[in-house]
Amino acid sequence: MASSPPRHSVVIVGGGLTGLVLALMLQRLKVDYVLLEAYDSVTPNVGASIGLWPNGLRVLDQLGVYEDICKVAQPVDRSIIGDGRTGATLMTRRYGPVMKARHGYVNMFMERYELLRVLYHHVVEKHRIFVNKKVIRVETHDEKATVYTKDGSVFEAQCVVGADGVHSSVRRELWRNADDSDPTAIPKCDRQNIRCEHACIFGIAKPMPEVQPGEVIGASTQGTAAGLMVGPKQELFTFWFWQLPEEMRSCPIGAIPRFGEDDKKRELERAASVILTSSGLRFQDVAENLQSSAVTALPHFVLRRWHFGRLIVIGDAAHKFNPLVGQGGNSCIESCASLVNALQSTLGTRLSSSPAAWSVTALSEAFTAVERQRVGRLVDMVEKCQEAMRNTAWETPRRQLMSKYVAPLLTLSQFANIYSDLITAGVRLNDPVPRAIHHEWLYDDERQDLPNGFSAYQTMTAIGLLTAAAAVLFQNQHSLARILARLKIA
Ligand SMILES: Cc1cc2nc3c(=O)[nH]c(=O)nc-3n(C[C@H](O)[C@H](O)[C@H](O)COP(=O)(O)OP(=O)(O)OC[C@H]3O[C@@H](n4cnc5c(N)ncnc54)[C@H](O)[C@@H]3O)c2cc1C
Repeated sequence: MASSPPRHSVVIVGGGLTGLVLALMLQRLKVDYVLLEAYDSVTPNVGASIGLWPNGLRVLDQLGVYEDICKVAQPVDRSIIGDGRTGATLMTRRYGPVMKARHGYVNMFMERYELLRVLYHHVVEKHRIFVNKKVIRVETHDEKATVYTKDGSVFEAQCVVGADGVHSSVRRELWRNADDSDPTAIPKCDRQNIRCEHACIFGIAKPMPEVQPGEVIGASTQGTAAGLMVGPKQELFTFWFWQLPEEMRSCPIGAIPRFGEDDKKRELERAASVILTSSGLRFQDVAENLQSSAVTALPHFVLRRWHFGRLIVIGDAAHKFNPLVGQGGNSCIESCASLVNALQSTLGTRLSSSPAAWSVTALSEAFTAVERQRVGRLVDMVEKCQEAMRNTAWETPRRQLMSKYVAPLLTLSQFANIYSDLITAGVRLNDPVPRAIHHEWLYDDERQDLPNGFSAYQTMTAIGLLTAAAAVLFQNQHSLARILARLKIA
């Protein structure tokens, strides 16, 4: 008799940032999970970098990985934005210390592979991570979900989380399952063409003395933008963004344009003369020092419906950002927290029980809560980040004017507000309680913890006023007693 497939509470499909962060969250709660990764490693070194912001770092801190991330990351001190044609500096803003003071964490850059390595290092039961398991088919049933991989393996679970990136197979399978039993489940807007307005070359170049640790360099020209950040080993994380022609800016989610070596060569030639620093460093100088590079389309979208039956997609599979501002991965971390919070609140202690029996109704409730919490914030963020890209690439004369002459008038505080506005509404894990870390701006969840919609500022002001009043009263208690006596109150 054939043995039945292994059954777990959760099968995570995809071992990128989303999959590994979710694995660590489930590990904390002692949930029986496995993670299936298509390739032979969850820590491939593909020469990409990633910047983390306080909203993502706060969650990673809850997971106990923050200290290790700091060891492989370079904190940002300042942003220097210039005119790529003339090399003139348009503005320099030391926003790093402002982020730290306001939000408790500073924006930091690292190799993506180093981040994945830290996350993987913290996975205690490595046998839960399966590589070379490319998922090709997923089924949702009343009692269970079944996952089939290309090598013939079969896994069963209470729920399947598609953390398999922008070209998600789980998303495709989720739609197929929905179409088979409820063709109205997936809203039409999710199947419409998505926008894909830009593409980018990203890579890592050897250190160059013209760029200092802690600097984020941006250089704009009409229709393009170049970026440089110095990593923890002084290496240069290098970016070249360009606007795609009108006819390429809309595509089906399953047919995102692919770019090859010819595109890369053409764009590197176009970028060569762009001046990155006031000292005259040109893109060509950096390109000649590139140790690794790749080219990719930059679609952006937010699905309105992330789940069907026992299946859900999160991370890039459900929401995709233009990477200029660097909130895509941070939002993946937030979505993991949102999902785990929702599962915890819907399933309670059943979340950790094994073997588990979770009803489709309970799962739907949890998954719907995730969409309710996440979609609105993500639509807003994705559009803001896209606007930042359009402005930075001076796509119209008005945008060029604003970026060149109006943006440099922003004070440091106003400049930092652009980032802070994306950070304070960040979603964290409901538990554990975040580590006490000094921060002057409250996160939205901290405001919610205050009674009856009182803001922290109101509360702190009220406490301050009461303390001051008490001190005055104490000092003047004798005169107060006299006044009260005269008024015949005391
Ligand atoms: C150039 C660039 C720069 C960026 N910079 C930043 C930044 O500074 N800050 C930031 O926050 N974000 C940044 N991002 C975005 C960030 O990298 C992504 O949001 C994040 O990595 C997405 O993680 P993910 O795990 O959801 O998807 P992915 O990283 O795509 O991982 C998906 C995983 O699933 C696996 N997989 C796929 N299909 C299957 C299958 N069928 N079966 C099993 N496994 C499968 C893949 O092999 C992969 O390991 C950037 C993106 C780009 C393109």
